[in-house]
Amino acid sequence: VKANDMKIDEIVGGVIQGDRSLLARAITLIESNAPHHFERAQEMLNNLLPHAGKSIRIGITGVPGAGKSTFIEAFGQMLCEKGHRVAVLAVDPSSTMTGGSILGDKTRMENLVKHPNAFVRPSPSGGTLGGVHRKTRETIALCEAAGYDVILIETVGVGQSEVIVRGMVDFFMLLVLTGAGDELQGMKKGIMELADAIVVNKADGDNLSRALKTKSEYNQILHFLQPATKGWETEAYTCSSLQGDGIEDMWNVIGKFVTETTKSGGFQTRRKTQAREWLNSSIADQLHQHFLQNQAVKDILPQIMEDVMEEKRTVSSAVELLFAKYTGRGF
Ligand code: GDP
Repeated sequence: VKANDMKIDEIVGGVIQGDRSLLARAITLIESNAPHHFERAQEMLNNLLPHAGKSIRIGITGVPGAGKSTFIEAFGQMLCEKGHRVAVLAVDPSSTMTGGSILGDKTRMENLVKHPNAFVRPSPSGGTLGGVHRKTRETIALCEAAGYDVILIETVGVGQSEVIVRGMVDFFMLLVLTGAGDELQGMKKGIMELADAIVVNKADGDNLSRALKTKSEYNQILHFLQPATKGWETEAYTCSSLQGDGIEDMWNVIGKFVTETTKSGGFQTRRKTQAREWLNSSIADQLHQHFLQNQAVKDILPQIMEDVMEEKRTVSSAVELLFAKYTGRGF
């Protein structure tokens, strides 16, 4: 039985009981781009939202090869062993553009996937980045309703996706490598300013002393940057995801972050702001979908696009014409 054929009550009940296969089906329903699934998905969500919210949401980014999946595997397993339930989600910007995937192709997190306390889900694909945003936000809520109390969201950097993930997590972590001299100069200051922690990974073997040096270089730069979270000082740390060093320390840092920002109220304020932004981006996303499904728009869009690309028509006149068709005002 597919999730789209099941009664909403059954799916909702199963998710709340932590049934992993029903959770997976519920996410599939949310990720569906079919318009007739949308209403069912929203009804399901409305029933599950009251059970959501009780987790710590952690974003993890870094260039390919920085060690994100190795880190998440080590970090996730450590948490599962402590009795936490860990959901790992991904936001992969390439999945929206090419249908391919930077994050997903290789076999990732083999051990974590097998752990009974873990739930690993690849990035939703297809549609706009805004669509991926909404689906990921909704998936977070489903995982929380299913009892996952730590949500890890992995992304890979092309700027925009980092900003989107920052907008849905409590704590944002940037994983970097040594030899950062060049990297530091090339790295957008903007990404560093999103981070609550910068973690120099692969601090092991011959690389350890360089990692410590890189850490202090980052700390010097951080000194001059805006902190990502009011009242929290972003610092650099080292870890070895492969050997497990420093992994538990990062959990302690996050614990301290939650305690301090909860006390100052920053934690709750950020979540409220994020909920508002979620609403705004959902409205924009749905309007866009509705617009593209409008028959009158469909009829003329390809021609108008061509005209714009060939500079036979300006963008603003194209938008005006399309909206006239969409709203039925004629032209
Ligand atoms: P991702 O692309 O950011 O997900 O990076 P991966 O987790 O796939 O790691 C890239 C490569 O770096 C793999 O060959 C890992 O085994 C290796 N690696 C990851 N973490 C460490 C570490 O802490 N120490 C060492 N020496 N190698 C690591």
